[in-house]
This record gives sequence, structure tokens and C-alpha cells, in this order.
Amino acid sequence: MITQLLAARQRPIWQRELARAVRSLQELLTLIELNDHPEIASETTRKQFPLRVPHSYIARMQKGDPNDPLFRQVFPLIAEDQISPNFSLDPVGDLAAVRSSGVIQKYTGRVLLVITGACAIHCRYCFRRHFPYVDHNPTKDHWEQTLSYIAQNPSIREVILSGGDPLTLTDNRLASLAQALACIPHLKRLRIHTRLPIVLPERIDIHLLQWLKDTPLQKVVVIHTNHANELDNTVEVALNALTQAGCKLFNQAVLLRGINDNIDTLCDLSERLFDLGVIPYYLHVLDKVQGAAHFEVDIATARNLYQALRTRLPGYLVPLLVQEQAGALSKLPV
Ligand SMILES: *Cc1c(COP(=O)(O)O)cnc(C)c1O
Ligand code: SF4
Repeated sequence: MITQLLAARQRPIWQRELARAVRSLQELLTLIELNDHPEIASETTRKQFPLRVPHSYIARMQKGDPNDPLFRQVFPLIAEDQISPNFSLDPVGDLAAVRSSGVIQKYTGRVLLVITGACAIHCRYCFRRHFPYVDHNPTKDHWEQTLSYIAQNPSIREVILSGGDPLTLTDNRLASLAQALACIPHLKRLRIHTRLPIVLPERIDIHLLQWLKDTPLQKVVVIHTNHANELDNTVEVALNALTQAGCKLFNQAVLLRGINDNIDTLCDLSERLFDLGVIPYYLHVLDKVQGAAHFEVDIATARNLYQALRTRLPGYLVPLLVQEQAGALSKLPV
């Protein structure tokens, strides 16, 4: 009896992994076998958007290589301290599109719910690194408001769970949200935008898969991976399980200088994704968020890469190159 109680109370593995994600620069450097780094961001920057990276993601980094494409996505460089003209705190105009607490609607038929500010990893180029989550988070007491906004707008066909990373919420909460959404007759699809299957594949466990299998809504999962090195066997298992649970899988990547801005890397990513049952969906031009200027790839280079991709891959493996523009009616092809 007591052991049963203890077992019931024990947190799922993914929550323990999330809790012990690396938050110390020194620990990260030690784990990837670097003694020091000459270009560490200021303390102010590191406090404002702290380092965070799960162990399983670190395990996929090349040891001793400061230019490793996974390491570069999470390590706060001194370049982040620089204030860049044309880079802003809210580059995609999310705040202007807030309809109700945590409800962002920019496009017809789809509504995006910012259901948490938490992420398992902190990607240094993230366009939400300055988003005021505290003021815009439809946590428990606000879900009523969110649900009634959707119920009152019959043009909404699809609800997108976003954040932060929506899969950092517990399965109890997600399952009850999914249940409530399924009661809205005009809703057809539940779409989840998450990087967790990539950065914390342990998250795809039986509890998550159970409520996904249970919902009568059509399920779309848009993962976020930028480099084939992120896609190891643990990720493969997680993605297969999502497919088995009836989810259609797509990927969105961000074009990042020094990480995936070359043709071979982009081809490898598309090929590997297709091996894992994922269709490449979008390749985003970087959103101009303050602190991320050093990741920018200029538009001419982006276009050339895209043209080259088209000559190298079948059309269905070429993601659409898009840019987000505040106030536009859709993401814009570049
Ligand atoms: C990106 C985004 C969507 C989804 O756009 P799709 O083109 O359907 O992938 C929906 N709402 C918001 C606010 C977005 O930023
Ligand atoms: S997982 Fe997504 S939302 Fe979270 S920090 Fe990375 S890019 Fe931003």
C-alpha cells in the first residue's frame, strides 16, 4: 500500500529530467569538455534569459567543439549583449494580436494559445525571449475565458497549443484542456507546437500518448529541430510513438548563421526528418529579436540556399522559406 502511494506520487521521469536541466555555464562547459570560453555574455543578459539545457540534449553535442551546432544554440555569447538597430523586443507583433489573456489570433481559422512560459531548453535565438508571460498566461483560472473566446468564434477550426513549450505542462492539465476543446463543435484540429520531442524525448511517455489517443480531434504536432545532429535514436523512438498515436508530424526550423546555413546541412535535415516520418514544413528567416542579431542570415543568402535546396531534394522535402511580419495575414514566403 505504502509503496503504491509512493509510486503514485513519484514524478514522471521527464519531470525529473526537466528539473535537473543544466543551468550553470561551468557545468555545461565541463560536460562538453571545454575548459573555458572566451566570449561569455554579460551577467545581465544571462539573468534576463538564463542558460537552460537538458542532459539528453548535451549528450548529442560533439565534445570539445565550441562550434558544435547544438552547443551554439544554447550557449549565451557576448554578441547577445549588443543592442542592434532593427531588432526589437516583440519582433512578430504578438502583443498587438492578443485577443484575450494568452490567446493570440493573427490568422483566419487558427488561434494560438500561449499556455505556459516554460521551456525545457532556452534557445538563444528565441523570438519570445522577451515575451511578458506573467501578464499573458491563461493558466487555470483563465481557461474559462479562453474556451469561451473559442466557443464564440465559429470560424476557428484549429487550436494551436504554444508557449513557451506546451508539453512542459502536466498531462492532467493537458488532458483536461483537450477534453474541454473537444466539446466545442466547430473545432476540428488540435495542433501542438513543441520542441520537447527533440530536446527532452523522455517527455513522450505513456501518459501523454494516452490522452492524445483519446481525443476525437485531429492531431497535428509541429516539432522544432534545426539540425540532423539533434535527431538521434531517442528522438526517433519518441516521434514513432507520436505517429502511432495518430499525430501528423511536421517540422519548422529557423535558418541560423553558423548552425544550419549551408546546403548540405539543410539537405541532411530534410532527409533525416523524412526517415523519422516528419514532413519539413517551414524554414523561418530569423525573427529580429534583440540579442539574436549574430544568428541572422541575410535574405539574399537565404534565397540562394532555398533555390539550391529545390535542385537537391524532391519538392515535398523542401520546407517553405517564410518570414513573419507583424500585422500580415499569414506568414510570408520569402
Ligand atoms: C505561426 C502562427 C500560426 C500558424 O500559422 P500556419 O501558417 O498555419 O502554420 C498561427 N497563429 C499564430 C499567432 C502564429 O504565429
Ligand atoms: S523551445 Fe521554442 S519557445 Fe522555447 S526557447 Fe526554444 S525556440 Fe523559444
